[in-house]
Amino acid sequence: MLKSFICHGFQGVSTSQRKLIISLLFFFILLALVLNAVAILSYRSGLAELKAQGNNRLELYINYLQGVLEKYESLPELLAIDNNLVRALLNPLEPTRIETLNKYLETINTVSDTLDTYLMNTDGLTIAASNWQEKHPFVGRNFSYRPYFKEAMAGKLGRYFAIGTTSSKRGYYFAYPVRKDNEILGAVAIKINIDSVEQKWSHRDENFVVSDPEGVVFITTKPEWRYKTLKPLGKDVLQRIEESRRYPEATLTPIAAAPAIPGDGLQILQVAGESGTDEKRMVVLSQHMPQAGWDVHILMDIEVLVKKVVTMCFVVASGMTVAYVLGLLLIQRRHRLAELNRVEEESRKMLQEANELLESRVLNRTQQLTEANQQLRKEILERQETEIKLKRTRKELIHAAKLAVLGQMSAGINHELNQPLAAIRSYTDNGRLFLQKGRHEDALWNLEQISELTERMAQIGAQLKLFARKSGGQVVAVPLHGVVDGALEILRPSLNKAEIELAINITPADLEVKANHVMLQQVLVNLLSNAMHAMEGQDAKKIVLDCRGENDRVIIAVQDNGPGIPEENLQNIFEPFFTTKKSGQGLGLGLTISDRIIRDFGGQIALVQSENGAQFEFSLERIH
Ligand code: ADP
Repeated sequence: MLKSFICHGFQGVSTSQRKLIISLLFFFILLALVLNAVAILSYRSGLAELKAQGNNRLELYINYLQGVLEKYESLPELLAIDNNLVRALLNPLEPTRIETLNKYLETINTVSDTLDTYLMNTDGLTIAASNWQEKHPFVGRNFSYRPYFKEAMAGKLGRYFAIGTTSSKRGYYFAYPVRKDNEILGAVAIKINIDSVEQKWSHRDENFVVSDPEGVVFITTKPEWRYKTLKPLGKDVLQRIEESRRYPEATLTPIAAAPAIPGDGLQILQVAGESGTDEKRMVVLSQHMPQAGWDVHILMDIEVLVKKVVTMCFVVASGMTVAYVLGLLLIQRRHRLAELNRVEEESRKMLQEANELLESRVLNRTQQLTEANQQLRKEILERQETEIKLKRTRKELIHAAKLAVLGQMSAGINHELNQPLAAIRSYTDNGRLFLQKGRHEDALWNLEQISELTERMAQIGAQLKLFARKSGGQVVAVPLHGVVDGALEILRPSLNKAEIELAINITPADLEVKANHVMLQQVLVNLLSNAMHAMEGQDAKKIVLDCRGENDRVIIAVQDNGPGIPEENLQNIFEPFFTTKKSGQGLGLGLTISDRIIRDFGGQIALVQSENGAQFEFSLERIH
């Protein structure tokens, strides 16, 4: 993200990413400004705190020093009024007096816990001293070069820090003039030990330093700083110090590697560390001790302050970062919530719209449905009415048809019966006449004719009976060749007479069907008779009776090479009493009866028209 931002600016960066980058930039700028302010403020407040703390400590330390000095500073003044000292100064050549004084000074030295107590004449020559018995006694030594002597000779309390020239022990000197009638006869001096001052404060964390007016450190809690300076000393100063033999063999080099940096009313020193390599920055607080002419300093490591500032900055930076991240998360959450609300609102709207659309569609569809329903009801009513009408019409039609059939049938029967009846009548008349004339032969012939005619009439009756019969006979397994033989038996004379070529195929020969023997024979007789009649008058007459087994069915077909059935008769041939035959040849019931019989056996007679003749076909259930 940042890379693309650097390479292409804001190109190819999404709006949210852009916002994030901007917010990050602002955050970093703000963080930098705040950290800067925090660093400055915490540094300043830390310095102020350090200063206050330092000043406190300094005050305590100065008070302690003051106490130590005050403890001893009045002692020379007290000694100066002692007559023993005055008398000794007035009579320096009396050995017993000097010896007594030496002992006296020794006692005082012991009691007052000072290093040395001694008496000098106006030339600076020591005439008596507490250390008169030691290896390097002061007696006989001249200290006129010491400033404390000079100050005492000037009538003031002399104070001085120095390393003893005789003892090489450092100490602080107090000297006071010994007077006789306002005339200064000499000076009495004491040297006090300041090692205890350092020891008492050395265990503390603070670095205390006491420097003389020249800036040389002579009391310090850090031994390595002893006899060093807080600032580089000038040549004249160095020379003056050397002349006073104040710090013999001391190097007097500065503590700080770099000169002091003034900072906010304080001084900051770059001090070399103990190893000499790592430098430390130290805050220096100073206070002047006017009576002693000393400067007391406290040096505090600034690292603590820097650490505090860094910690503060870290805490603030962490806080700000956490706040920023929390803010980002909050904004993100708010955005997400807003987005969620928007999506929810949109979905709700869409849902509402869809709902409204659905409702309007449902209303529309309902209306359409209601209309369609009403239309349907109307239509149903109309249909019902039509049905009633139809039923009525059908009834009427059936009635009419029945009447027509009855008429047709009566006409047929009438026609069929009238002819033989008329013939019988004339044969009877003829017979009677032949009998009257005694022509018995002729009368017999007429009677035979009458008999034949009655036989024919009986046949017509039998046919009608067959038609009237609903169904009859037992349905069993019937061997087909037996049925065919039976039918041929009946038709043989007619077939022979008509010189018809008959072809019979039964495949396989032992085919058996589910039927009634007599009925099936009747059907075959009917179909074969029809074929025979159709071919009347033509030269070559041929009938093919084909029986073949196909799976669980047996197909039986009767085909002739007659004229076939004209188109206009196709619809009618299965109707009862439809016939094209001459009167006396057929009633038009053969096909109707045959079809009924076959239907009873579970089949149906169908006409298969072919180019040469007609073919009637039906199938039966195969048994074998
Ligand atoms: P009928 O034999 O008494 O006329 P059918 O019902 O047996 O009555 O036959 C109806 C008519 O169908 C016949 O009059 C004839 O016109 C026609 N028909 C039946 N079989 C054949 C056939 N094989 N060839 C031509 N016409 C036929």
